[in-house]
Amino acid sequence: MQGLMQDWPLLCHRIIDHAAAQHADRPVISRSIEGPIHTTNYAEVRRRALKVAQRLDRDGIKLGDRVATLAWNTWRHLEVWYGILGIGAIYHTVNPRLFPEQICWIVNHAEDRMMFVDLTFLPILEKHAAGLKSIERFVILTDAAHMPQTTLKNAVAYEEWIGEADGDFAWKSFDENTAAGMCYTSGTTDNPKGVLYSHRSNVLHSMMAGMPDAMGVSSCDVVLPVVPMFHANCWGLALTSPMLGASLVMPGARLDGPAIYELLDTCKVTFTAAVPTVWLMLLADLEKTGAKLPHLRRVVIGGSASPRAMTQTFQEKYNVDVIHAWGMTEMSPLGSLCSMKPEYAALAGEARLDVQMKQGHAPFGVEMKITDDSNRPLPWDGKTFGRLKVRGASVARRYFKDDTEILDPDGFFDTGDVATMDPHGYMQITDRSKDVIKSGGEWISSIDLENLAVGHPKVAEAAVIGVRHPKWDERPLLVVVLKKDQQASREEILDFMQGKIAKWWMPDDVAFVAEIPHTATGKILKTELRERFKDYRLPTAAA
Ligand code: AMP
Repeated sequence: MQGLMQDWPLLCHRIIDHAAAQHADRPVISRSIEGPIHTTNYAEVRRRALKVAQRLDRDGIKLGDRVATLAWNTWRHLEVWYGILGIGAIYHTVNPRLFPEQICWIVNHAEDRMMFVDLTFLPILEKHAAGLKSIERFVILTDAAHMPQTTLKNAVAYEEWIGEADGDFAWKSFDENTAAGMCYTSGTTDNPKGVLYSHRSNVLHSMMAGMPDAMGVSSCDVVLPVVPMFHANCWGLALTSPMLGASLVMPGARLDGPAIYELLDTCKVTFTAAVPTVWLMLLADLEKTGAKLPHLRRVVIGGSASPRAMTQTFQEKYNVDVIHAWGMTEMSPLGSLCSMKPEYAALAGEARLDVQMKQGHAPFGVEMKITDDSNRPLPWDGKTFGRLKVRGASVARRYFKDDTEILDPDGFFDTGDVATMDPHGYMQITDRSKDVIKSGGEWISSIDLENLAVGHPKVAEAAVIGVRHPKWDERPLLVVVLKKDQQASREEILDFMQGKIAKWWMPDDVAFVAEIPHTATGKILKTELRERFKDYRLPTAAA
């Protein structure tokens, strides 16, 4: 028997309809690419998104067509998203930080038909335009006054382009499982893989993100997503904020400390989210100027682990609550958030920080398990670590144009992360599965060893990789960059680590290097380190 409730497909453009009806005047403030601060509201964003939809329709963009954006967080980018969504086309956020060759590969693979581009990226695009084979037209996100001469195909200024539409247009309607958005993961070795979100998964993800124990945003909040829309949907905030009626502040192209501080201060931002690198820049700036953060209540830190000192500084010096979060492109992206359940709520000081170093617990809509290599579930004791696998309403089941099976027999996706789960359901990442060191069938966490090694006063940076060993398969090699003008011996570093970890976790050797290679997003490039040290002979190898 079927229920007798209305059929109301979960379509993303219903979010902007809701915002315009219930929160019409709520400010949407942006730092424009041209420079000045621009203010609009949800009613106006919807009105102009309808023009985008009408104009796309007139340009022949149809249900299922991919439309790329190469753009920072601004009101125009937001309008473009909703306009694309409203006709059943697919927004494809392209990450401008990738190499141009990767951008071309991704755009061609997605077969994007149009591209919306910020002024910032014109020079680089013009150089590589010949490689963007499927793009029929470029829309430059600016007005006629700022429109430069460009060689890009059929280029037009955004304001001119939507100026040709009167907005007398109705959203299209279609099944809620229709594709809505697309984002490619940036693999360090393989080609990037396309993750294809649906309207349903995006709407459910937005509801999940807004729950009190997740981001807990409300219509009284002023939200600054520093995390870009091209990085995993700016963690859902471009959809969640209008859904909840929160005011939005869009930072445009400037993510440096002084620029972010200015927005936090002048727009009275209460809630913000970004990766640790951004917060390092902000905290350094605050340290210099002595400024405070009187309006800010909560900051979400994710993308990589939040350093303990950063969490502590935000909370103790600036009275801002930190929510550590974990997720990935394949999860839309939220997987867990470290809000305090009653079991931990009373903790203070170091004990509270210990919990906050965990990546948190899964909201409704995400199921988690940790398993061994044979998919056997491991206990939630806060100590045992295994492969972290997830299942849920906004988790990928396949990549775009790729038939590879990515789910286990129970329908769980292997995140590639290694984690512990504690008895209260809090997950803590201990490694990436390809980085974990497999010694005699047991796992050693490279991250734990690195964190310990960088605690040595002479060590600037440390990376741990597994090196082939005749008896144990792999043993840890600690690769170290010393601080400027410092000298240290292997024994000095190992003595420092002695007693702080299990004996069999101790690195078999220390290699001193001038520099450790990094990826474009600042993560240690272990593939290159492993290549460099592949013939390394450990002193224990003869034993
Ligand atoms: P991406 O899909 O580019 O967002 O990368 C996702 C990956 O970033 C995850 O699989 C984790 O390895 C890592 N990551 C994300 N958030 C965190 C976090 N809070 N702590 C540690 N690693 C994280």
